[in-house]
Amino acid sequence: MNVGIVGGGQLARMLALAGYPLGLRFQVLDPAADACAGQVATLIQGDYDDEDRLSLLADWADVVTFDFENVPATAARALEQRVAVYPPALALTVGQDRLYEKTLFWELGIPTPVFATVDSLEELREAAIRVGLPAVLKTRRLGYDGKGQRVLRAPEDIEPTWRELGGVPLILEGFVPFEREVSVLAARGRTGETLFYPLVENRHRDGILRLSRAPYRGGRILEHLGWNYARRLLDRLDYVGLLAIEFFVHEGRLIANEIAPRVHNSGHWTIEGAETGQFENHLRAIVGLPLGSTAAVGSSVMLNCIGAMPEREAVLAVPGAHYHAYGKAPRPGRKVGHVTLRAADDEGLRDGLERLLPLVGLEPGEFGPIG
Ligand code: AMP
Repeated sequence: MNVGIVGGGQLARMLALAGYPLGLRFQVLDPAADACAGQVATLIQGDYDDEDRLSLLADWADVVTFDFENVPATAARALEQRVAVYPPALALTVGQDRLYEKTLFWELGIPTPVFATVDSLEELREAAIRVGLPAVLKTRRLGYDGKGQRVLRAPEDIEPTWRELGGVPLILEGFVPFEREVSVLAARGRTGETLFYPLVENRHRDGILRLSRAPYRGGRILEHLGWNYARRLLDRLDYVGLLAIEFFVHEGRLIANEIAPRVHNSGHWTIEGAETGQFENHLRAIVGLPLGSTAAVGSSVMLNCIGAMPEREAVLAVPGAHYHAYGKAPRPGRKVGHVTLRAADDEGLRDGLERLLPLVGLEPGEFGPIG
C-alpha cells in the first residue's frame, strides 16, 4: 500500500521508518531539496499548493497524510477529491487556527483559558479588560514552539506588544499559572476504534519542548479526564489517525491549550516506551489496520536534541538509551534528533538521566526531580 505524506520533516521520516515493516511504501512532498524524510522515502520536491505535485502524490498514493498542520486548506481539499486523506481536512482547519481550536474546546465542554479575538489596538485594549492581565497575546495562525506570542503583564505592555505582533489576526488568552504541562495522545481508526496512550508530562525551555516523561504518575483521575476530552474531540472531528492535545494542569484540572492533528513530539517516547509507537499506530489507523496496544513498556523519558546532536558513543553508553538522529544539518534552535531513555520503572531512570541531561545541553536537576 502506498502512503503519501505532505511535509518531509522528521515526523514524516519516523512515519516511514515505522511503516516499512508493515509493508507500506512512502512518498513525501516538501519544498526543500534536503527535506530529511527524503533520505528514507521518495521525495517529490514542490510547494504544498503546487497542483501538479499534489496530483503526482494523489495519483501514486492509496492514502495521504500530513506531517504538519499548516498545509493550505485548498491543498487538503484538492487531495480529498482524489484520494483518501487522513486526518480529515476539518481537523487541519481547526488545528491551524487558535480561534477555531478554542471555540471547539468550548463547544465540547473542554476547559480552556478565557479568550478574545484581537484585530486592532482598540480591540486589544478592550480584550485586556475582558480577559484580565496577565494574559498571552498569540497569532491565531502559524505559531509554534512559543513563536508569535507575548505575555502582557501590565497595561503599559499593550502598545509595544501590539507593535510587535499586530497586523495579523490575534487572540488574547488568559494566563494560566499552571503547575505542569501534559499531553494526551490518542489514535482513532477508520472504524472509530479508539486507544489512548498514558498521560505524558512535558517540560519546555524558551517555548521549545525539551523533555517528555511517560507515564506521568499524576493520578488516574487526571488521565481519565484527558482521555475523556480527547474522545470528545476525536468523535466530533470524525478523526482518523493520531491526535495530540496539550493541556495545562492547574489546581487539579486540565485546561486545554492546543491540538496537533498529527503525530507529536511529546509522543516520540512511544517508539521504545509503548507496546506500539505513535508512528505505527497513526499508519495502522489511516490504512485501516487494527490499532496496536498503547500500553507503556516500563518508564520513559524523551530528550529533544536542539541545535546539534550529542555525541553518539556517550549516549549509547548509557544503558536503556536510544539515539534518534533526524539527518538534519545542525542549526541553533533546530530540532535535530531525540534520545529516549527507557527503564523498567521510574527509579531505574534516575542514573541514566543524570548522565544524559548534560549531553543534550540541560543542567542536571534543571527540571526538578524526574523519575
Ligand atoms: P503554545 O505555542 O500555545 O504551545 O505555547 C507555548 C508555551 O507557552 C506553552 O507550552 C506554555 O508554556 C506557554 N503558554 C502558552 N499559553 C499560555 C497561557 N495561556 N498561560 C500560560 N502559559 C502559556
